[in-house]
Amino acid sequence: MSLRQDNITYESLLEGNKEWVAERLAENPNYFDELAAGQHPPMLWIGCSDSRVPANQITNTLPGDIFVHRNIANVVTHTDMSVLSVLDYSVNVLKVKHIVVCGHYGCGGVTAALGSKQVGLIDNWLRNIKDIYHANESDILAIEDPIERTNKMVELNAIHGAKNVMSTSIVQNAWAQGQKLSVHAWVYSLKTGLITDLKVSASSAEDMPAVFKMDVK
Ligand code: ZN
Repeated sequence: MSLRQDNITYESLLEGNKEWVAERLAENPNYFDELAAGQHPPMLWIGCSDSRVPANQITNTLPGDIFVHRNIANVVTHTDMSVLSVLDYSVNVLKVKHIVVCGHYGCGGVTAALGSKQVGLIDNWLRNIKDIYHANESDILAIEDPIERTNKMVELNAIHGAKNVMSTSIVQNAWAQGQKLSVHAWVYSLKTGLITDLKVSASSAEDMPAVFKMDVK
C-alpha cells in the first residue's frame, strides 16, 4: 500500500507553495502585504514536533495567529535556551495573552520514555519525562491498561510543562508587572481531533505553589 506521503517530493512542496500563494492572493490581493507588516499573535503554543499536531490547522487559525515552539514530546525545561528564548520573546516583545503547552495522546516521545529501549541522543532529552514518571510512579502503575497509562503520562507531561512555564522568572515578572497572561495545559487526541483543557490554568502567581514563587524585581 502506498501512502499519500510517498508522492511528496522536494519539487512538489515548491509547487504546492506556488498554488498556496495563488489561492491566498485570489482571496485577498493584500494578504502578504498585511502579514509582512508585522505579527501580533495573542498566543504562544508549545507543542510536540509530531507531524500530526500542527498548531494552526487543529485550532482553525491562520498564519500570524500563533507563535509556535515545538520539540519532541513538548518538553519544557529550565535549561533549554531555545524554549526560554521563545518564551521571553513571546512575553516581553510580542506580549502574548496566553501560553499553551499542548501534549497529544499517542506521543511517541512519551511512549519511548516509558520504556527502556535505547533510541539515541533523544534518550537524554526524554529523561525529563522519566523524572515525571518517577515522581508519580505509584499513580501510574495503578493504571492497568498500557494505553491509558501512557495517556496519563501525556497529561502529566503537559501539566508539568505548563507549571515549568509558570515558574520561570519571565512569566512571574510579567505577572508582577500586571501583564495579562494565562498559562494552560491541553491535550490533543489524534483519534478524535479534539483538544481537552486539562484545567490547570494560571493567570497570576497566586495560582501556583508557593515553592515556585520568586521575589520579583
Ligand atoms: Zn509527540
